[in-house]
Amino acid sequence: MSEGERLQRAVSFTIAAGYQLNKEAFEFLNKISKTEDPLSLMEEAIRKIEGLPEKPLFINRSFLEETVKETLPEEEKPSPPVSPPPILEGRKVFRAYAKDVDADLKVIDDPTDKICTTGSVEEYLEYFQDRFKRIKKILRRRIDAKNAMPISEALKSTVNSKVKIIGMVTEKRESKGRIFLRFEDLEASVTVLVPQNVSKEVMAKARSLLLDQVVCVSAIKGRNDLLIAKDFIWPDVPQKTPHKAPIPVYAALISDLHVGSKMFMEKEFNRFVLWLNGKFGNENMRNIAGHVKYVVIAGDLVDGIGIYPGQMKELMIKDIYEQYREVAKLIEQIPDYTELIIIPGNHDAARKALPQPAIPRKYAEPLYEARRMYSLGNPCTVSLHEVELLLYHGRSLDDIAAVAPNVSFQTPDKAMKLLLQSRHLAPIYGERTPIAPENRDFTVIERVPDIFHAGHVHVLKCDTYRGTLIVNSGAWQGQTEYQKKMGLVPTPGIVPIVNLQTMQVATINFTAS
Ligand code: ZN
Ligand code: FE
Repeated sequence: MSEGERLQRAVSFTIAAGYQLNKEAFEFLNKISKTEDPLSLMEEAIRKIEGLPEKPLFINRSFLEETVKETLPEEEKPSPPVSPPPILEGRKVFRAYAKDVDADLKVIDDPTDKICTTGSVEEYLEYFQDRFKRIKKILRRRIDAKNAMPISEALKSTVNSKVKIIGMVTEKRESKGRIFLRFEDLEASVTVLVPQNVSKEVMAKARSLLLDQVVCVSAIKGRNDLLIAKDFIWPDVPQKTPHKAPIPVYAALISDLHVGSKMFMEKEFNRFVLWLNGKFGNENMRNIAGHVKYVVIAGDLVDGIGIYPGQMKELMIKDIYEQYREVAKLIEQIPDYTELIIIPGNHDAARKALPQPAIPRKYAEPLYEARRMYSLGNPCTVSLHEVELLLYHGRSLDDIAAVAPNVSFQTPDKAMKLLLQSRHLAPIYGERTPIAPENRDFTVIERVPDIFHAGHVHVLKCDTYRGTLIVNSGAWQGQTEYQKKMGLVPTPGIVPIVNLQTMQVATINFTAS
């Protein structure tokens, strides 16, 4: 039964009993029906009225509030009740472990207050130089790339000598089984030939190179300023043992609500909220809910306005402010002992170019009024009980899926692995992912995360790569016309929950009633 139906039943029951709710009482019932059963509450209220010497015709808000207070579970009450609360009859009282532990959340990196670009040509130059220098530094930490030389030096080497360079890919073309690549560093550029007779493995590496990616090339100096490729070395992430929380606290990782869209799955999202409150699911599910200390939303809270052609037809709410007001109504139901972290996505009302600052208050006032939260930029890094989480909406996953071999929209985990190997969140420049020319490249993956969480593709996938947990958190939106055209089948309404003590992931499906 949907929330609306439950509310309807509660109202019908009240009228049938000969009473009416005034406006404030109805609003209160509507609000509380997200976390409580409105029918049980009205049954209890009417039982109380029946016992009164003088029965009112209208039921007001304060009477309902009092009734709710009387039916609270034992532990939440200041003094013990005389009889067990009827609303929880036949059900164990929900006691959240997470309520009794302190949050441990540090914001390690957030671009929000560091954004200062004006978009001049000089800034673009500075941006690319910074990208190159940062990734070169990461590459140089590798034993096999330590002795790389500048391109200018490699060009001066004698023919047939071994050389290693670090460069940014600026051109790539394949012809007659050979691949020609152009690499650039801060002073020079060079053409690298991948001949037909290299091993399959090296050929596959060359094919998977992305434009604007910075890698190390091991080669033989040929004639005419040409290098003959022998191998390619990605900056990559080292194999690591992830940090773990000392206590069993969990993080619920979600993204892509798309509130305002006709396809927003309100019923399923309400189940998720009910579940967080210990009011949905079996004993095991409720036990998991009680350990959730962090709720993380990786962008696209709303569907936005004017994001794609023809969007108006697919919108239920056509005003951005109203869309955020709806989100506010949902997130205010998230238990107050949990910490909420949000970042913007490409549908949110923040600037579209990476790095995106936190969603500005002027568009999302109701959101900020709804509850305490960490509203951060995209991308950002936080630590939860020392477990480092890299949070990124995932726009560039589109670009990767479009060009990388063996990667599709249905396999965002593979695209995310490629980002880790590239040590960059948006290696391809100038496609669908706009990047602002900040003097520092915020999209270089400097710190190796324990968890890498992204969304955007609407397909839930989890994987582990060299000790880093990769999670793409799906969505809360049914298949759109655009996705249908693209042949993308989303997996909405399923939530990955990470146990920060063990790094194990449990998924809970809220689409099955
Ligand atoms: Zn989305
Ligand atoms: Fe998105």
